[in-house]
Amino acid sequence: MKILMAASEAVPFAKTGGLADAVSALSLALVKLGHEVKIVLPRYYSIDRGNLRQLEGPLGVPMGGGEEWCAVYTTVLPGSPKKNPVAVYFVDHENFFGRDGIYGVPWEPDYLDNPRRFGFLSRAAFQLCRKLDWYPDILHAHDWPAALVPVLLKFAERSGEFSQTASVLTIHNLGYQGIYGKENYGCLNLWWDTFYKAGFEDGNMMNFLKAGIYSADKLNTVSPNYARETLTQAHGFRLDGVLRCRSADYCGILNGIDGRVWNPKTDTLIPQPYSAKDMTGKAKAKEALQRAFNLPGNPGVPVVGMVTRLTEQKGVGELFGPAYGSAWSICRDMNLQFVLLGSGEPWCEQEIRSLSSRLSNFKARIGYSEELSHLIEAGSDFFLMPSRYEPCGLNQMYSLTYGTLPIVRNTGGLADTVENYNQDTGSGTGFIFDDLTPQAIYNTLGWAVWAYYNRREHIEAMRIRGMEQNFSWEKSAREYADLYASALDLIRRP
Ligand code: ADP
Repeated sequence: MKILMAASEAVPFAKTGGLADAVSALSLALVKLGHEVKIVLPRYYSIDRGNLRQLEGPLGVPMGGGEEWCAVYTTVLPGSPKKNPVAVYFVDHENFFGRDGIYGVPWEPDYLDNPRRFGFLSRAAFQLCRKLDWYPDILHAHDWPAALVPVLLKFAERSGEFSQTASVLTIHNLGYQGIYGKENYGCLNLWWDTFYKAGFEDGNMMNFLKAGIYSADKLNTVSPNYARETLTQAHGFRLDGVLRCRSADYCGILNGIDGRVWNPKTDTLIPQPYSAKDMTGKAKAKEALQRAFNLPGNPGVPVVGMVTRLTEQKGVGELFGPAYGSAWSICRDMNLQFVLLGSGEPWCEQEIRSLSSRLSNFKARIGYSEELSHLIEAGSDFFLMPSRYEPCGLNQMYSLTYGTLPIVRNTGGLADTVENYNQDTGSGTGFIFDDLTPQAIYNTLGWAVWAYYNRREHIEAMRIRGMEQNFSWEKSAREYADLYASALDLIRRP
C-alpha cells in the first residue's frame, strides 16, 4: 500500500509529545512490512534547511480564494531501510512556519493563525502528491492539525487521481481539538455548506478535529481502552456523541515503543546496558541516578521516578497542588527517594522547586533532557503516572521494558499495558489505582514501598515479567495495515 502521513510533528524533526514518536516509528514499521510511506510536515524554523534537499519549483496551495506558494524540501527519515526508505517532505512557508515554536511560544501558546497554518499543511498534502505525481492509497492524518485532510478528501478532492484514496484519522489526544473562530473558515477554500455537512460547527466556533471525525473513512485512537473511554461523557471532551455516531469505524490501536531508542540491552545513554538475565546495569543506573540528583547513594532505598509534561492531564494537581497535593506527605512519611524531570505550567514548576528545597529526598530537574529521561527509566525502582487521562502513554511501556514498576491510574492505555499487583500470588507488572485523589496516590505509593521492603521476591519477579512484554511497533503496524485495508474496502466496494 502507498501511505501518506500528514502530521505536525515527527521525530527527530519536531516534537512536543508522544505524537512525534508515533508518526515516525509507525512509518518505519510500515515500510519494514513492505508498504511505501511518505510523511508531510511543516518546515519549522528549527529544522535546518542545510540538511535537506530542495525540490525543484514552488508548490502552489489554494487558500482563501487565492493561492499560497511555498518551497518543498525533502530528506529520508533516519532509521529507514535502504531499499524502501520513508521520504519526509517539508512544506516551507515563511509566513506560516518561519517562527519559533510548533503551535506557539510560551507567551502565545496557541498562535492566532493556527487554523491557517495547519489548514495550509492539509491542503499542501494534496498538492504535494500532484507535484510528485504519486497518489497514495491511504491519507493518514494525525490529530487536529491534519484533521482537515480527511475533510478535503471527502468534500473536495475525491475525484480523479484521489478517487481510490481512503482516509484514516488517528486521535492521539482528544483534549486538543483545534477550536477557532468561524471567521477562519474562509481561508480553507471550502463551500459554506461543507461547514455544516462536515461537522465543523461547534457552538459559534469551528472545530477541526470534529470535522475530521465526521469525514474520515476510518478512525482510531492509540489504545483500545482509551477508544472505549472516549465514547463516554466523562472522557469524550464533548465529542463522545460524534464518536459514538462513528463507532462502527472507530477502534483503538496501542502505540508501540521505538526499540532502537528504548532498549536496556543497547541503550547508550545509561552507564551499562542490562537485560532480565543480568541486572547489574540496572543497579549501576540507580547509582548514577542518585549521583545525578545529588541523593545519598543507597541501593536499598526505593527510587520513584517521573518524567512528564507538567499539565493537568498528568495528575500533577493531585500530586503537587499547593496545600492539597500528596507529594509532600509521600516524601515526608515514606522511606523513599523521589526524582522528577519535567516542565510545563509555571505554578507547578514553582511548587516543585519549593518542595525540592524543603525535602531532602525529593529532587527535581525542570526542563527537557533525553539523556536524563533514560537514566530515570533505568535507574528508578518505580515510575509514577497518576494521569487524569492517558490516550496511550509511552513512559509506562518504557518503564516495563527497563524493569521499573509503573504505578499508574486505571485509565486509557495505562490500563491496557499494566497488570495490577496481586500480593497473594505475586502476579502483575505494576500498581494501579482508580481514583485520581491525593489520598489514592499516597496509598498506592505506600503499597508499592511496602512491597519493596516486605515482598522483595514479588518485586523482582514483576520486573522480569515487565521486561518480557512485547511493545513492538511491528505488532501495531500490522493492525494499522488492517485498518487501512478496511478503509479501502469501504470506498472501493462496488
Ligand atoms: P504525552 O505525549 O502526553 O506527553 P507520552 O507518555 O505519550 O505523553 O509521551 C511523552 C514523551 O515525551 C515520552 O517519550 C517522554 O519520555 C517524553 N518527555 C516528556 N517530558 C520530558 C522531559 N521533560 N524530558 C525528556 N523527555 C520528556
